[in-house]
Amino acid sequence: WSRSRDPLELKDIFIAVKTTKKYHKSRLDLLFQTWVSKAKEETFIFTDGEDTELRKRAGDNVINTNCSAAHTRQALCCKMSVEYDKFIESQRKWFCHVDDDNYVIVPSLLKLLSSYHHTQDVYLGRPSLDHPIEAAERVKSDGSVSVKFWFATGGAGFCISRGLALKMSPWASLGNFISTAEKIRLPDDCTMGYIIEALLEVALTHIHLFHSHLENLQRLPTDTVLEQVTLSYGGFENRRNVVSIRGAFSLVEDPSRFKTVHCLLYPETDWCPGTNHH
Ligand code: UDP
Ligand code: MN
Repeated sequence: WSRSRDPLELKDIFIAVKTTKKYHKSRLDLLFQTWVSKAKEETFIFTDGEDTELRKRAGDNVINTNCSAAHTRQALCCKMSVEYDKFIESQRKWFCHVDDDNYVIVPSLLKLLSSYHHTQDVYLGRPSLDHPIEAAERVKSDGSVSVKFWFATGGAGFCISRGLALKMSPWASLGNFISTAEKIRLPDDCTMGYIIEALLEVALTHIHLFHSHLENLQRLPTDTVLEQVTLSYGGFENRRNVVSIRGAFSLVEDPSRFKTVHCLLYPETDWCPGTNHH
């Protein structure tokens, strides 16, 4: 049976991390220290400015998109468009996108994707809203029609099978993603949903193992945290929105909780306290 003869391997996955130059130090360092170290060859950093230190650390796995560093729809869609093209080029089986404030629990991701087939049409993620979004699709005769579709929130991460990604090509490849986004004037993650659900009529599979800081992360049951696929953190300003998990580091030492999660997943890590490495 194909499943046992050909199990999904880490190298079959392409993980795109969206970032911007100003977050290389404050956000990316933490990711390299934690989950990226478990998927070095699979993780590709999409940024908007050259950084010699980052280049030394990740080599060709850093992609300078040359997209603008502004937080605009056009700049973000420009990055997504480069992510898509690089994935297609990579020949890998799965495309997963995350933000630079996500922790990817690599074994859970592998387990999740193992239960689907990359040649089929698969779109996995957490819906942003509890109802489909309604968008005005601009049509040629300067009118517009309304379309309804679900989309996976980019800030929680999402995955797309190669089979589906190939079908998206007319609307997603080589800059077409940007024009598609302009047609509905919505952000990158909504545009993905628009191409997949509205144009290709493939449904989003709602997976609640993906998490963004738009939800209340404290409410995630502590005993299920390590089984999730992605985590995030947010709101350091007022009340911090982080997963509630106890372990090696205090909230002051590890405000995002990513180091704590990492040491629970991989206690043998040299910087995790409580083990004797010599
Ligand atoms: N980001 C970007 N360009 C910007 C600002 C943010 O590419 O000018 C990226 C950032 O690195 C992150 C994602 O967009 O991966 C979401 O940004 P952030 O977490 O700051 O905002 P959110 O939308 O989650 O509140
Ligand atoms: Mn964020």
